[in-house]
Amino acid sequence: ELEEGIEQGQFKVYFQPVVDAMTGKIASAESLIRWFYPEKGFISPGVFIPALEESGHISELDLYVLDSVNEFQKKRYQSDKITVPVSTNLSWMDFYDETIMNWLEKKCADASMPSGLCRMEITETSYAAIEADRNATLEALREAGILLLLDDFGSGYSSLNVLKDIDIDVLKIDMRFLSKGSSEERGEKILEAVIKMAKSLDMLVIAEGVEEEKQVKMLKRLGCDYIQGYYFAKPMPKKDYVKLLQKSR
Ligand code: C2E
Ligand code: MG
Ligand code: MG
Repeated sequence: ELEEGIEQGQFKVYFQPVVDAMTGKIASAESLIRWFYPEKGFISPGVFIPALEESGHISELDLYVLDSVNEFQKKRYQSDKITVPVSTNLSWMDFYDETIMNWLEKKCADASMPSGLCRMEITETSYAAIEADRNATLEALREAGILLLLDDFGSGYSSLNVLKDIDIDVLKIDMRFLSKGSSEERGEKILEAVIKMAKSLDMLVIAEGVEEEKQVKMLKRLGCDYIQGYYFAKPMPKKDYVKLLQKSR
């Protein structure tokens, strides 16, 4: 039902703002896909993305998201509207999909807007599933000015390997790794060390999944660069995101 869903516009790209920790202003955003399925209503990406990966169809959806975000960014940029970078989530399967690889290659050569306006997110787990030669693709993206974000840092198995092997521009730490009930003091120490490590590797840090003021205060104290989470804004439809963007400047 994926193709039909895409054709009928059941899939919507939502945007979640990422704010500058110091100023609270929107610095960038993440695109997150939503499926509004007829009759059954909203289906969470946590459910259909693993299913699409299992059936080998995730790249069709990712291509749709890449195209939508690219068009959105290009339109805003070319009409002189406030435009901040937007990142798109890539599945490990995308690196084995010819259409996506061609898309990325074309994107690298696209001069119709600054390449920094589109960013790519990969997880540690998906990086681990990409064979060594795929590094060349990631490097080409970076050389073309497309920033790479390492998503869900700390929740996989090979974090340090990944950091050693590829140049990553932005580290995304999911605050949910500090599960409720675990020692806050230990959590803060780990965060502090990770942020320091990221800085010494010239990486910027986004903390995601930030829901409480207490967390915001701590992250500012530890020198985290950017914050994403329900505390500031939930993922929202394009029209709401555009309004917020307009208001934030
Ligand atoms: P992710 O890339 O790590 O995205 C962050 C997830 O955390 C999103 O879940 C977002 O809605 C949620 N989130 C943001 N702030 C908070 C918060 O303060 N508290 C809590 N509890 N959650 C927060 P979502 O949208 O359900 O997406 C789940 C995952 O599905 C994403 O995790 C990503 O891995 C994947 N995904 C989403 N869109 C796409 C896509 O277009 N392509 C691919 N391949 N994967 C996608
Ligand atoms: Mg992500
Ligand atoms: Mg994440």
